[in-house]
Amino acid sequence: MLKQRLECVEERICRALQRSGRARAGLTLLAVTKKFSADVIRQAYELGLREFGENYVQEFELKAPALQDLAGTRFHLIGHLQSNKTKKAAALFSVIQTVDSAKLAERLNDCGRPLEVMLEVKLSGEASKAGAAPEEIPALIDALVACPNLRLTGLMTMPPWSEDAETSRPYFRRLRELADRHKLAGLSMGMSHDLEVAIEEGATIIRIGTALFGPRRKN
Ligand SMILES: *Cc1c(COP(=O)(O)O)cnc(C)c1O
Repeated sequence: MLKQRLECVEERICRALQRSGRARAGLTLLAVTKKFSADVIRQAYELGLREFGENYVQEFELKAPALQDLAGTRFHLIGHLQSNKTKKAAALFSVIQTVDSAKLAERLNDCGRPLEVMLEVKLSGEASKAGAAPEEIPALIDALVACPNLRLTGLMTMPPWSEDAETSRPYFRRLRELADRHKLAGLSMGMSHDLEVAIEEGATIIRIGTALFGPRRKN
């Protein structure tokens, strides 16, 4: 099942890359494993996947002990990080994609562990969404430069949900423009339903859950 789904996702990726004249090496497929067990992560590892995305620090804390023998994996936190969980997050993850305040950056830096980070940007007006406003980015970049343990690699965003993948395109394009302006190479954008559009707009990391693992349980 997973093997077929992965092949199907890789085909979608390859077609979109081809259309955009891009090489496979420039794109990371991040397997989003929230609400799936450590066993599922192990199966994905056996099929060659190495980069995994998790949304909840506490959930991943329970799975991580069963995954310590998987050499070469990198786990990315892609869900909102509360500042009282920074220590745990810094110990569990290689990449924190959801930094959206200077305070959070400073707290992560104080953990003393080298971390790759991305700035989460909120490009829609949705009050419920996490992420920094585009106009906050220059100050956040300055704050990150002052954090010797953190290496800023790019921007991450999550557009408002829509069935229609084309709805995501203007958000992805804006994220790329922002990254270009600030000379950041990494762009984490695109999920199961809009990965093609994200690749066409320059994504370097696509975050794929459902298309690989099927529907998630509701709670
Ligand atoms: C769950 C999640 C994904 C994966 O979404 P799918 O539609 O299942 O591919 C990607 N990014 C974030 C931030 C998520 O929370």
